[in-house]
Amino acid sequence: MFKHPPATAITPQGDSWLITTPEGGTTAKAVLLATNAYTGQNIEPRIARSMLPLRAYQLATEPLSEAQWAEITPARESISDTRCDLWYFRYTSDHRLVTGVALPFKAGAKFRLQALLKSRLETAFPSLAQLSFSHVWNGFVGITADFTPRFHELGPNYYSFTGYNGRGLALTLPIDRAFAR
Ligand SMILES: Cc1cc2nc3c(=O)[nH]c(=O)nc-3n(C[C@H](O)[C@H](O)[C@H](O)COP(=O)(O)OP(=O)(O)OC[C@H]3O[C@@H](n4cnc5c(N)ncnc54)[C@H](O)[C@@H]3O)c2cc1C
Repeated sequence: MFKHPPATAITPQGDSWLITTPEGGTTAKAVLLATNAYTGQNIEPRIARSMLPLRAYQLATEPLSEAQWAEITPARESISDTRCDLWYFRYTSDHRLVTGVALPFKAGAKFRLQALLKSRLETAFPSLAQLSFSHVWNGFVGITADFTPRFHELGPNYYSFTGYNGRGLALTLPIDRAFAR
């Protein structure tokens, strides 16, 4: 009914929930709040308090050669380590390498990021010495104190799952199915 305007408040109304938006309100028997790191204090302060929204950056290189890919991941695996300062990279269908990092401060981010990631990649894979990045983008990920996601039961038929700690692309799919059931 209201596809694009943001929800500005979620309040109980009888045995339902009233969801208010700048274009009007609607009621629902059940609410699934999926705003994760973007959850504002106005919507749900309990979730906003439960995690730190951290700005994560992603970069894509110019397309790499077959020889470079043969050195990096011959079978095109996606690579990810388990350190707090997560390092990961993957192959795209147009032969680019996509990698990223989270930075606490935005100042000079584009320059600092490229230098940091270039140096990491060149140290691990000397054939990437002439590496250049063609795309840089960013968004917020929800980080929790123990790096574990949170299930929230916020009221009768009012649920949320948040704090994927930068690993939500795979995890949200089975969780969404479970919520839908
Ligand atoms: C640069 C970057 C790179 C990443 N790389 C990876 C990766 O390689 N692998 C991986 O697993 N994860 C990665 N992540 C993390 C992943 O994107 C998140 O974990 C995942 O998107 C969380 O999914 P979600 O649906 O819970 O929340 P989100 O995808 O954050 O969606 C939240 C939605 O809520 C909407 N919203 C916010 N407030 C309101 C409101 N008031 N009313 C209505 N809607 C609202 C927002 O517009 C948004 O669409 C990356 C994140 C970033 C930023």
